[in-house]
Amino acid sequence: MRLVVLGGGESGVGTAILGKKKGYDVFLSDFGKIKNNYKEVLLLHKIKFEDEKHTEDLILNANVVMKSPGIPDKVPIIKKIKEKNIPIVSEIEFTNQFTDAVTIGITGSNGKTTTTMLTYHLLKQGGLNVGLAGNIGKSYAWQVSEGKYDSYVLELSSFQLDGIETYKPHIAIITNISPDHLDRYEYKYEKYIASKFRITMNQTEDDFLIYDADDEAIANWLKNNSTRAKLVPFSISKPLDFGAFLEENNIKINTTNENFDMPTSQLSLEGKHNVKNAMAAATVAQLLKIRKDTIRESLSDFQGVEHRLEKVLKIQNVQYINDSKATNVNATFFALDSMTTPTVWIVGGVDKGNDYTELLSLVNEKVKAIICLGIDNAKLIETFGGVVDVLVEASSMVEAVRQAYKIAEKGDTVLLSPACASFDLFENYEDRGRQFKQAVQNL
Ligand code: ADP
Repeated sequence: MRLVVLGGGESGVGTAILGKKKGYDVFLSDFGKIKNNYKEVLLLHKIKFEDEKHTEDLILNANVVMKSPGIPDKVPIIKKIKEKNIPIVSEIEFTNQFTDAVTIGITGSNGKTTTTMLTYHLLKQGGLNVGLAGNIGKSYAWQVSEGKYDSYVLELSSFQLDGIETYKPHIAIITNISPDHLDRYEYKYEKYIASKFRITMNQTEDDFLIYDADDEAIANWLKNNSTRAKLVPFSISKPLDFGAFLEENNIKINTTNENFDMPTSQLSLEGKHNVKNAMAAATVAQLLKIRKDTIRESLSDFQGVEHRLEKVLKIQNVQYINDSKATNVNATFFALDSMTTPTVWIVGGVDKGNDYTELLSLVNEKVKAIICLGIDNAKLIETFGGVVDVLVEASSMVEAVRQAYKIAEKGDTVLLSPACASFDLFENYEDRGRQFKQAVQNL
């Protein structure tokens, strides 16, 4: 059996290793450059590969192709593979056949990483032999090839889900759905929503689907479609007969005989969105029978994830917060919503068709100054120019942070929450976040 792996990043290299171990004739091909550390791993495992090209003769003779999630369907080599009817699977699908591990699959437009890390933390503290994979850290395939864990918490993007056929998580979470990545879905929001719900398509009556019951796109889908999984909603706006909800600032979960409760004030992460993420993670822990005390402790000592509402420093009583991962309006909405002091807001970058009007009332209420950090700031200026007293433009992170420093007064917050992708001025959101932290440290 010949396995061709397209893409020489974490998931590609992991799949190649697993495939080799299972006896496949493996070939890995990347149209870009493969990083040296991955090349070394491939050589070490005696896996044949090429980079900066796709040699068709070595690819179109595959029995199965694993496509890394970053490669869009429209590239020529994928079209050719499809014409030849060679099955294309994702890393998750390929790996699934080689493991009995129980998986918790987490998807959504925002909050995937936070909820995945939080769930992992809860289960690990609860004593499970659990691994962490998907879009995070070491690839799922690679870890399965090493066979160390009985269960995994997997962060699943819609691109990963597009490539599954038989995979099912025992417990699935859909954190929320708002328009994102529409360029990969022919600009059709329904297609993107359907892609997220693939997470439940193979689930059975013994499985669970945890979801945000306050989310319109999710509610609509559930009204018009069905799943066999047991539905476990969570809500911050209404009490539920079954699920997780708020009662006087207490999180309540009534999915088992043992009711769970915990004051939101004891959560280590701030913001309404993180109450939701905590509800989802705690519901998984409840379903897997982790002790309630352990769940509470773990929710209150979780350290948070870099670039997600990350507190950087307090300088002259001004708090600097790095939310560089907020690459869409919905994420920034929750960041602004969680601000409790007057805010100097650094925003901008590559706009994916943003509608900023959703943010107007929060900006009105909380933001004293806006610093636009992008090459093209016209839309921001048009939307918010009349709303705040101070609106300035910056063309580098150092300049933006210096301007923020000048404007902010004791007790204020400086928030980087761009609502945009970073590719105009930065390599990626991590680079943007790190430059912000560096500039703050240099003040
Ligand atoms: P993802 O992995 O889905 O991109 P992250 O956990 O990395 O999600 O968070 C991305 C951004 O969204 C951050 O700015 C974070 O503060 C914000 N965020 C986190 N959880 C939620 C949520 N439940 N709803 C909306 N925004 C969220």
